[in-house]
Amino acid sequence: MSEKATTKPGTDPAHYLQIKDIVKTYGDNYAVDHVNLTIKKNEIFALLGSSGSGKSTLLRMLAGMETPTQGQIILDGEDITKLQPYDRPINMMFQSYALFPHMSVEQNIAFGLKQDKLPKGEISARVEEMLRLVQMSKYAKRKPHQLSGGQQQRVALARSLAKRPKLLLLDEPLGALDKKLRQQTQLELVNTLEKVGATCIMVTHDQEEAMTMASRIAIMSDGQLQQVGTPSDIYDYPNSRFTAEFMGETNILAGKVTEDGADHTIIQCPDLQQPVYLGHGIGGPEDQNIWLSIRPEDINIYREQPPLEYNWSAGIVKEIAYLGSFGIFHIQLPSGKIIKSQVLSSYWEQYNIPMPTWEEKVYINWPDNQASPLTH
Ligand code: ADP
Ligand code: MG
Repeated sequence: MSEKATTKPGTDPAHYLQIKDIVKTYGDNYAVDHVNLTIKKNEIFALLGSSGSGKSTLLRMLAGMETPTQGQIILDGEDITKLQPYDRPINMMFQSYALFPHMSVEQNIAFGLKQDKLPKGEISARVEEMLRLVQMSKYAKRKPHQLSGGQQQRVALARSLAKRPKLLLLDEPLGALDKKLRQQTQLELVNTLEKVGATCIMVTHDQEEAMTMASRIAIMSDGQLQQVGTPSDIYDYPNSRFTAEFMGETNILAGKVTEDGADHTIIQCPDLQQPVYLGHGIGGPEDQNIWLSIRPEDINIYREQPPLEYNWSAGIVKEIAYLGSFGIFHIQLPSGKIIKSQVLSSYWEQYNIPMPTWEEKVYINWPDNQASPLTH
């Protein structure tokens, strides 16, 4: 398509970063396999995937530390595919964000600015601004070993933002912190990024972290983007079994479509006693085999048989994990399949009924449209 070569891409904020058909191979192995992605200005975007899915390779190509086998990267209207890392208006912060141990906090933050030979006054003004931003002004003279893990992370972020990069890349930014500190730092990090209006792509294998921090997420596996969307889009409307299981807990049931109308679908699942009813059509061939994903929090538990034609089954309570505000029940269906149901503790309190107990016979049921049909 010659059009691409002649049209200069605009600096449209909706197409701030354009990743066009990027491929990276190592020998016969596709580490990144034809990725297309557009990032908006000021967006916090997460690449989520398990180890080896190609997240770091994609990030390193954006930073210029790897050369794409194929494809094009355009940032703010400029083709940067062939630029050297130091010529790119991009900063990358690694999991091991190694601060310079012999330098103070302020010297660490000033380092990149000095290398760029910014005027002295400008450097000290920016360092001061960054210290304030990450609330580390009091610690300006300290050395890294005199700081906690969370504080070191904040200094590393300040150092990355000091050069006002057009794009900030974070590879497992909170990987070095323990769980509690991580959760607190996630919100702090988002606040800081939003305050300076940074455009940011972060890599994580932690689904909760991606959902907490990012406005949009791409789920990556085998070098490809499996689904791109807001956290709730992906959680509520997964496009495959893979994304449904990757984003949170779910129950997957195999079934066959027996009726596919314009406004409803009926599916027979061998594991369930009653058919599944969806209040919408799904299209596709007659009698197609599909899967249903039903989230544990959408599955209710009753002691009486539901007076319904659809969407229930009997089962036996096999395991209970009581977690205070809610409980997770493992319910074995007559077929032997285990279904997980997550019920708020207040449900039982509200109706003043005892929680189901081990080996009790119960019925599971879910609302009409809480089963997501998946074709692969
Ligand atoms: P992630 O960051 O999602 O864990 P990576 O991008 O590091 O995944 O790796 C993706 C795939 O590419 C893996 O199969 C990995 O072994 C391979 N890979 C990454 N870097 C290299 C390299 N320099 N040489 C050969 N193979 C590599
Ligand atoms: Mg990685």
